[in-house]
Amino acid sequence: MYPAPTAIRGSRVVTPLGMAAATVHIEGGRIAHVGELDETGPGANVIDAGELIVMPGLVDTHVHVNEPGRTDWEGFETATRAAAAGGVTTLLDMPLNSIPATTSISALQAKASAAAGRTWVDVGFIGGVVPGNAPALGGLAEAGVRAFKCFLVPSGVPEFQHVTEPDLREAMRVLATLDRPLMVHAELPEVIEAATIEATAGDPVKYATYVASRPASAEHEAVALVVELAEDTGVRVHIVHVSSVQTARMVTSARGRGVRISAETCPHYLWFDADRIPDGATEYKCAPPIRRRDDRDGLWSALSSGELQMIVSDHSPCPPILKRRDVGDFFVAWGGIASLQLGPAVVWTAMRDRGLPIERLVEWMSTAPAALAGLETSKGAIAPGYDADLVLFDPDRAFEVREDMLLHRHTVTPYLGVSLCGVVEATYVRGVRAYDRRTGPADIPPGELLLPPHPWPTDRHNSRT
Ligand SMILES: [Zn+2]
Repeated sequence: MYPAPTAIRGSRVVTPLGMAAATVHIEGGRIAHVGELDETGPGANVIDAGELIVMPGLVDTHVHVNEPGRTDWEGFETATRAAAAGGVTTLLDMPLNSIPATTSISALQAKASAAAGRTWVDVGFIGGVVPGNAPALGGLAEAGVRAFKCFLVPSGVPEFQHVTEPDLREAMRVLATLDRPLMVHAELPEVIEAATIEATAGDPVKYATYVASRPASAEHEAVALVVELAEDTGVRVHIVHVSSVQTARMVTSARGRGVRISAETCPHYLWFDADRIPDGATEYKCAPPIRRRDDRDGLWSALSSGELQMIVSDHSPCPPILKRRDVGDFFVAWGGIASLQLGPAVVWTAMRDRGLPIERLVEWMSTAPAALAGLETSKGAIAPGYDADLVLFDPDRAFEVREDMLLHRHTVTPYLGVSLCGVVEATYVRGVRAYDRRTGPADIPPGELLLPPHPWPTDRHNSRT
């Protein structure tokens, strides 16, 4: 284990007041206070960050770790080492793709047992909303899930069924009493089914054929439904992975009417452009799909104006074979993009080109997702009393994404070969160094699980799934 610093000083420290020269004093894993640059006590173990940007650790509320059950896709060790290398100090694990899916307390216990002592960053959990498990949601909240997630379309795995309107209404009534947000994969199956019938006449190795099968209208109609039900029930909702700028407008309009709704987008929607995706390049497949340049630019405008509140990875890898690169068929390949380690570099490279300041990256990738996870008093800011989750970031250093630098379980990602700017030099989790660019992840994993102290409550209700 590296010796924990008692202070980190630098000329570019990003606090809620903006960027300034400062010293961040650390005691017991927390930020004790933020003082002047030269203010360090005698004998202190001070890290001098020099010109590097010192920012709060990123909070990624959308990560599919897949363990237990599909650990050959991704696991807690590999995912959290990659997270630390990507400046992420807290992640929330999605309730699906693992087996069991996190739809009951016993499944959450299985997650926690798989993760305990094996995470390089702090890990919180998301509970699943599936048909029939509304009675289990209160117990999951009590057991410590920080949010809930549901799908309005088939999720891609059989053990996590999507909800229909009556299921959703029933779950929302329960969730409205629990003070936890409901994250929604918002696409409507009816729209996709109709579009797919027409699209399958086209060539399945063309990305345009896949995009045609999942039109933006599927997202818009789903969000309209979610807004209506959220308005009726008063539940706090969050739209995951927004791909279309019109969705951001709908969310903003609902917020204006007092609906408790927020929305995220992901690096791939902000970086790639459907017209430039090669035939058969299934590593780009995700749902909803990456759309055209107009949407990409519109998503940046929506972030700038505050219509979208955050950027999270939706890191969702699988074994290379399931990407079916051999046939290049977008309709049979697994949908999901691996990017956990690359988030700040992708986003920052695009931000530099647009003249956006690093403080906005902190807002979108740390402060806002921390608040969504209910961690707004401990994560997402360099301020007294907050956890000393800190990243030293070189905004000017360029690199090309290569397989040998990726710590994800699998190196399949559409970012291979892409030139990016912005390197994570070191990551600290509650004051302990989790990652250093020169030496890699720490020997001993410093992460903790964001769960209340045991004992575990027991499942009081059986769900159908
Ligand atoms: Zn996802």
